[in-house]
Amino acid sequence: MVSTDYERRIAARFAGFDQDGNGHIDREDFNAAVRALLTEFGATARCDKGQALYAGAEAFWQGMAGIADRDGDQRITREEFLGGAVKRLRDNPERFAEIARPFLHAVRDLADADADGALTVAETVRVLRVLGVPEEAGRAAAESLADPVSGTVAESVAVRAFADYFTVPE
Ligand code: CA
Ligand code: CA
Ligand code: CA
Repeated sequence: MVSTDYERRIAARFAGFDQDGNGHIDREDFNAAVRALLTEFGATARCDKGQALYAGAEAFWQGMAGIADRDGDQRITREEFLGGAVKRLRDNPERFAEIARPFLHAVRDLADADADGALTVAETVRVLRVLGVPEEAGRAAAESLADPVSGTVAESVAVRAFADYFTVPE
């Protein structure tokens, strides 16, 4: 079924969102990602960072649903993702960065131990691993994003890379 390299890459993006692997993207996938991040970084759902993370994830889900959930059943199927979301995201990567930004900001805040606004490579790898990116690939990505002087990944750089990854050109 999956034939071209482009379709394979899109399938990988879909799997990235479908955190519980049940074949569609819905709010629960976003909540699962939040729970996993809170566990990894030892925070609770009730603390400020936990609240911000849930709020960011909800905004991200709402934005994705607005783009992709064409029949309004609160689920994004693979077909909806392939048919609508991918094209619309590709045509408008800024929009994607916009809907992902509050979530990524909250993730950065959660994982940023010294609160300087940037993540170390190790912190970035932890975030990516929790979200399902294998350690090796996560490390390669984090190292490529890190500022050569500070050695850390700035939030704005992470937002841009995240949008680029999910709005992969054909
Ligand atoms: Ca799912
Ligand atoms: Ca749907
Ligand atoms: Ca930091």
